[in-house]
This record gives sequence, C-alpha cells and structure tokens, in this order.
Amino acid sequence: MEPIGADADMKIITRALLKEVVYVHAPDGLEFDQAGLIISDSDIGVYCRPEIGNHVLAGSEDPDCDLREWVDSDYYERNFTDQSTTQALRMAQRMTGLKLPNRMRGIVDLYDVSDDWLPIYDRSAIDGFYMACGTSGNQFKNAPVAGKLMAQLVDYCESGNNHDTHPLSFALGHIDFVLDTATMSRLRTINPESSFSVLG
Ligand SMILES: Cc1cc2nc3c(=O)[nH]c(=O)nc-3n(C[C@H](O)[C@H](O)[C@H](O)COP(=O)(O)OP(=O)(O)OC[C@H]3O[C@@H](n4cnc5c(N)ncnc54)[C@H](O)[C@@H]3O)c2cc1C
Repeated sequence: MEPIGADADMKIITRALLKEVVYVHAPDGLEFDQAGLIISDSDIGVYCRPEIGNHVLAGSEDPDCDLREWVDSDYYERNFTDQSTTQALRMAQRMTGLKLPNRMRGIVDLYDVSDDWLPIYDRSAIDGFYMACGTSGNQFKNAPVAGKLMAQLVDYCESGNNHDTHPLSFALGHIDFVLDTATMSRLRTINPESSFSVLG
C-alpha cells in the first residue's frame, strides 16, 4: 500500500507495544463476574477486572521491571510468555485462593501507544482524512464519546473551521465540562501530566 502522507506533520507518534492480559478463575465462593470491581493496585503493578465465566482478568500496570516490547505491528508473536504467569502470581498476592492454571489463558495483542500514552483524536495533514489512534490500551471504555467527538470534529472541519488554529470545544453530555480538543491534537507537545502508562 502506498503511504499517502497523512502523518506528515504529526508531532506525536504512535508505536505498537506487545501486551499480555491473563484470565484466571476466581476463588471458590467469590462471584467475581457479578460482584467484582475494576481495581488498579500500583504496589503489585497489576490491574484487574471481572471477565465472563467468573474469571479475573489481570493486566500489567507497566512497572519499570516489566519489559516493554515494541514490535512491528505486521509481525509479532501471540504466544504467552512468563509475563502472564508473573501477572497471575502478582494477583494471587491479593486474592487468596485464586486458581492458577498450568497453562495461561487470555489475550496477547497490541496497544497503539502514543508518546504520552494519551489518544490522538484529530484531523490529519490531508483534508478529509481524520485519525482516532494512539489509544494506548485505555480507550475501549471511551469509545461512545470518542465517536461523538470525531463526528463533531468532522462536521467542524468540513464546515470550513481551522481546527489546528482554533480547536473544537467539545461539551461532554453527562457532566458540566467542555473539553479542549487541542489536548488530543496530533500537533500537541507531550503532556507531562500523563501517567505514561496504560492508566492514561
Ligand atoms: C490486550 C489488550 C487489553 C486491553 N484492555 C483494555 C481495557 O481493559 N480497557 C480499555 O479501556 N482498553 C483496553 N484496551 C485498549 C482498547 O482495546 C483500544 O483502546 C480500543 O480497542 C481502540 O479502539 P479503536 O476502534 O480505535 O481501534 P481497534 O479496536 O483496534 O479497531 C481498529 C479496526 O480497524 C481495522 N483496520 C486496521 N487497519 C485497517 C485498514 N487498513 N483497513 C481496514 N480496516 C483496518 C482493524 O482490523 C480493527 O478492526 C486493551 C487493548 C489490548 C490489546
């Protein structure tokens, strides 16, 4: 495929980071898929959330001791490594009776990580070509509002407004807050207030 140069003026770039999340069965007597919470525990470097089949999903918070494996998104391995076992063992430090299997189950896939681990929702250098990328492992839950934002952004630009010099203000629907979309621009400088991790 010929590159079309839509990334020509980007000040923030994105790279593919290989990630493993592991599903382990909840301890007997704990209905984690009904009563479980999303918990992020920085002391063990693991976050967890309920997963169907009464599983606990354990992911890494990317502590410094965990290898960050940047890969070519067209060629990468989807096999579990010791990392998934490490995450399960870390989780077991907090959850007595967690059922650790011999063979791990879960997902091995890619985060599309931006320089500051915050997403890019923007137009591009090419008129009519927009981007919603750099989701950095933390934007699944934001999908509905990201869709609304992108729809408004497209309308705004296609109506002749210059989003780069006069960024769209986007009013959130459920709270009294107007988002300055310049914070999600491809032209921004790195946001030092980011956690620089999957927590965004
Ligand atoms: C292991 C793992 C765990 C995660 N856990 C969480 C979590 O717990 N919470 C959370 O908020 N986020 C999580 N995320 C991140 C979340 O999945 C992403 O932020 C979200 O999926 C991004 O949505 P998207 O629509 O931008 O991209 P995607 O979901 O990646 O969708 C892009 C689509 O475009 C298609 N595509 C790509 N190139 C082309 C092309 N050239 N032509 C046509 N189609 C194309 C792809 O096939 C894909 O279907 C996780 C990600 C991973 C990898």
